[in-house]
Amino acid sequence: MPSLPPTFVACLHSALGTPTAPLSLHEPEFGEREWLLVKDCLESGWVSSVGRYVDAFEQQLAAFTGARHAVAVVNGTAALHVALLLAGVGADDEVLMPALTFVATANAVAYCGAHPHFIDCDDSTFGLDPQALAAHLAHIAERTPDGWRNRLTGRKLAAILPVHIFGIPARLPEIIEVAGQYDLPVVEDAAEALGTFRNGQHAGTFGQFGTLSFNGNKIITTGGGGALLTNDTELARQAKHLTTTAKLPHAWSFVHDRTAFNYRLPNINAALGCAQLERLPEFLGRKARLAERYAQAFSPWQEGNLVTPPPGTTANHWLNAVRLVHPDAAARDRLLADAHAAGFMCRPVWDLMHHLPMYAACPRSELPVAEALAASLINLPSGPALEPAA
Ligand SMILES: *Cc1c(COP(=O)(O)O)cnc(C)c1O
Repeated sequence: MPSLPPTFVACLHSALGTPTAPLSLHEPEFGEREWLLVKDCLESGWVSSVGRYVDAFEQQLAAFTGARHAVAVVNGTAALHVALLLAGVGADDEVLMPALTFVATANAVAYCGAHPHFIDCDDSTFGLDPQALAAHLAHIAERTPDGWRNRLTGRKLAAILPVHIFGIPARLPEIIEVAGQYDLPVVEDAAEALGTFRNGQHAGTFGQFGTLSFNGNKIITTGGGGALLTNDTELARQAKHLTTTAKLPHAWSFVHDRTAFNYRLPNINAALGCAQLERLPEFLGRKARLAERYAQAFSPWQEGNLVTPPPGTTANHWLNAVRLVHPDAAARDRLLADAHAAGFMCRPVWDLMHHLPMYAACPRSELPVAEALAASLINLPSGPALEPAA
């Protein structure tokens, strides 16, 4: 008798065995160095807004990513907010961004008083599609004496905000080419993409700014945290200033020269970050091996395929995902229910931004790829604990 193709849950079992406790999507992992550096930070008394761990963490982030500067902040959303402000995004402007992303991307645009303008994703990276972007801009953009505006809304087009989804690098070289045609700065949301490269260049270092997140579910964590990356020394100086209450250096006086933010990463979080960053190469190796295990386990599955990064790219494999052959939200939800019943805490991808009430009225292009992806992607448990250290 010919054997039946395996079910979704059978593939999960084949990759991960039988869970004794529910396997969450992504949990952090801490070792001795984390305890040591956090203890050292506590003993130093410098736990808050200044200290040597913040400086060390910023230097190590810059060295790892190849960005000239890194500025550590309280979380990835704050990093995006400040990057957009410094890129020139202002009240009532529009920012072109993908419809498929975590809500923080759109929230950061709204914090600037600006409006997200949603564009479709491309089928291989799930990031902003440069062709869809170019076609949409050709349709809606109109040149004015001081830049480009959306001729349908009359609002200024202020920036392009691509996102590296699940750590798969978006098509930045092509997006930057389109941005150049419309004189638009590019800010990359690389929250999920520490350790991700395209042709050897780190995600978040293609545009004017890139931003990272070190939330508890990301590839490394500082508890909560984020960073801005930039190659522009003057913009890095401004980012530091704007995230540290715009305080002018002085031995004892409190002089501040603009309304600014208290967005600086506390030293104690940076201490945790330094220890986690030391382990990033090891995490990347384990994640690549877990992805390989998933690829083998899901190769006989017929309802869908494991998502694999396109050629020329090195993804960090932050979150593994499968994609159904036929987009179908009801079928996806049945698979999710089966997986949860078996102890695998799989998740659908986020609701598309224009389906959320606060962003439903925002301008957008046609979104066929984003809609299909939203109905066909399932994230798989991907934490470091699932793949033992070599
Ligand atoms: C995690 C994440 C953020 C926000 O980071 P926080 O540190 O949680 O503020 C932004 N964008 C994307 C795509 C993310 O995954």
